[in-house]
Amino acid sequence: MKAGWVTPDAPREEELAACVHCGLCLPVCPTYRLTGDEAASPRGRLAAMSAVANGSAAVEGTFDEMMSFCLQCRACEVACPSLVPFGRAMEGARAELATQRSSPARRARGRLLGSRGLGSRRTVALATTLAAIGQRLRVPRWMPGRLAGALAGLRPLPLRTATTLGRAWDAWPAPVGTAALLAGCVMDPWFAAVHAASIEVLRRAGYRVEVPAGQVCCGALAAHDGAADEARALAAANQAAFAGYDLIVVDSAGCGAHLKEYGSWIPGGEPWGSRVRDITEVVAAAISDGRLPTSPENNIPVAVQDPCHLRHAQRIIEAPRTLVRAAGYTVTEIDPLAMCCGAAGVYSLLHPETSAELGGRKAEQISATGAQIVASANPGCEMQLRTHLDAEIRVAHPIELYAEVLS
Ligand code: SF4
Ligand code: SF4
Repeated sequence: MKAGWVTPDAPREEELAACVHCGLCLPVCPTYRLTGDEAASPRGRLAAMSAVANGSAAVEGTFDEMMSFCLQCRACEVACPSLVPFGRAMEGARAELATQRSSPARRARGRLLGSRGLGSRRTVALATTLAAIGQRLRVPRWMPGRLAGALAGLRPLPLRTATTLGRAWDAWPAPVGTAALLAGCVMDPWFAAVHAASIEVLRRAGYRVEVPAGQVCCGALAAHDGAADEARALAAANQAAFAGYDLIVVDSAGCGAHLKEYGSWIPGGEPWGSRVRDITEVVAAAISDGRLPTSPENNIPVAVQDPCHLRHAQRIIEAPRTLVRAAGYTVTEIDPLAMCCGAAGVYSLLHPETSAELGGRKAEQISATGAQIVASANPGCEMQLRTHLDAEIRVAHPIELYAEVLS
């Protein structure tokens, strides 16, 4: 398919042709529900991509707005009876935008989400130190603008960060295998407690845990933003770093979803989907086969938030709930549609009003449950929830809640 496309990453003919325009995806689409506008729906976006593909429209301003407004939450994929791979098609459309509507700001953003920013340990460490200083000076409280909102959701950061990179831990009981942990870009310095909990529980489940040196940011945010070459370079580096590992464990839902789909970023690459597991999948399996214990019920409710890239992209629903129950808590449901919380990578910076609207709605749903603890398996969602929830409500990764009862 060519016509208006110029890159090899463009939406493919079979992806667009699969849409039969039934509209079943409309009720689950957050941007359609907010606006009621067909142009903000999955069906409308696919129609716009098809118009470019057949040459009746160009990649111009309106197309840019329609694609950029999408959260890439992939709720539409789950609802679609024709199995339209919307996430892949949208990444293709974003790659076209990055090329056909290239600008200095867009190129800079691509580099920040790739090699110069999230892909650079040095840059992430510097940003972490600056953010840690900002937290101590209470900068987010008086700083205006979008960055203040993002900083407000961060966990307290250390001034000097440790790293798990290149380290290894032996299993506690008789080993069942080796698990290679994705360190991630900001997970290491910003969510060190989540990694510590993952490592501890994996060891107790019988895994030797290794964090291979040489790995980099997974590239999910670069891919979502259309910085395809940056995303490919990061995927290739991780391909080399994780060579030889049969089990790659990820404790950030967005990163795990992207790693599982590396096959489409590394042509002829290995079958990543069968090697990558979310931490909740691995631990839920170990609980069900008796390698890990369950705790007595404590009747404390925990609201389980479903990150889009866990529930819609990876189709994992039960595993985080298994961990919460095994920790003794009572699972409390928030929203049967698991609507996006509005974090969506850099969406909160690019579309702050829509992001805040969705974040506020999610916070209201959580508050209505009365739960004082929220379990979320994705760092971006956690930050968004903390920004919008009352400060006394705890937001933690399910693996943290489970690790606490093991210790
Ligand atoms: S990915 Fe999410 S926001 Fe985008 S069209 Fe699909 S449901 Fe709507
Ligand atoms: S549900 Fe699928 S086939 Fe139906 S309109 Fe949406 S994307 Fe097209």
